[in-house]
Amino acid sequence: MSLSALFRDLLPREAIQENVPLCSYTTMRVGGPADVMLSPSTEEELTAVLDCIRQENIPWLIIGNGSNLLVSDEGFRGVVLRIGKNYGKISCEGNRVFAQSGAMLSVLAKAAEENSLSGLEFASGIPGSVGGGIYMNAGAYGGEISQVLSKVRVWINGEIQEWPAARCGFGYRHSALMEEGAVALSAEFTLIPGIQLEIAARMADLNQRRREKQPLQYPSCGSFFKRPAGHFAGALIEEAGLKGYAVGDAQVSELHAGFVINRGHATAGQVYQLMRHVQKTVMEKSGVMLEPEVRLIGHFES
Ligand SMILES: Cc1cc2nc3c(=O)[nH]c(=O)nc-3n(C[C@H](O)[C@H](O)[C@H](O)COP(=O)(O)OP(=O)(O)OC[C@H]3O[C@@H](n4cnc5c(N)ncnc54)[C@H](O)[C@@H]3O)c2cc1C
Repeated sequence: MSLSALFRDLLPREAIQENVPLCSYTTMRVGGPADVMLSPSTEEELTAVLDCIRQENIPWLIIGNGSNLLVSDEGFRGVVLRIGKNYGKISCEGNRVFAQSGAMLSVLAKAAEENSLSGLEFASGIPGSVGGGIYMNAGAYGGEISQVLSKVRVWINGEIQEWPAARCGFGYRHSALMEEGAVALSAEFTLIPGIQLEIAARMADLNQRRREKQPLQYPSCGSFFKRPAGHFAGALIEEAGLKGYAVGDAQVSELHAGFVINRGHATAGQVYQLMRHVQKTVMEKSGVMLEPEVRLIGHFES
């Protein structure tokens, strides 16, 4: 039986695709094919697929908006579960906002603004999904998912559990979902009542700052490296003379040295080689080992 045939009773035909180029599903626009991609649109479909993958012991990968992933040129042998916009309902009740994990953070922040709720302004320019944001504890401009999430419904080892924020083990760009293989299904955020015009103005200001400081016209994964304690990755990279350094079409952005951009036809291998060169050079110059914030998927040659 083919791999995709295992899911025919669990998902509609159009939610099952074979041999899918992952470069079309990552914001870096690199990465080889996935054997099978599944795009569930209800919690029942999503958990049935996860249960099946677990029972059959199939290698699996969750993708949200693919904005923090470096997938190798060989792609992914197994099943990629895409938790995207078709699993992205949002609703509001009082000062709480509920979202399925495929909702985009920008849409979530907009919904909060429309309901005069403050707290998610920081997230409006982060091009990720709610699930990816929780998994990464995404943050910007002093805000972080951990500050606004009240609980998350997760699938873990065949069980569905409700985790209060305190159970999520949040740290800087870190959550317990990483170690425990938990999948975020949906989430509840508790916000503060505010004035819609002021919330909208804050979001517009933060997005303007992004447009000025970040190379948003090029494919990238955002900040490639985590912020090392006591330093800024971009500043260390710039001090090491690496602004503009390129391997093929993968380049350290000239606008913001913390970003690695794809100038057009970069491969994942080139992005990886660039990453290694940056790590080695910064280590030699400043004694700091930069750790990627981006999740590396698949095999990379050192
Ligand atoms: C231009 C640009 C700017 C950015 N700015 C910021 C920023 O300011 N702050 C910031 O923190 N990040 C930023 N990022 C990085 C990225 O947007 C965030 O990390 C985002 O939270 C990733 O969400 P995603 O849906 O794209 O996740 P993906 O990249 O698809 O996945 C990231 C990880 O999350 C896991 N995952 C995804 N969905 C789920 C789920 N439902 N359950 C469990 N695991 C899941 C994946 O398996 C993977 O390991 C930026 C990226 C870009 C391209």
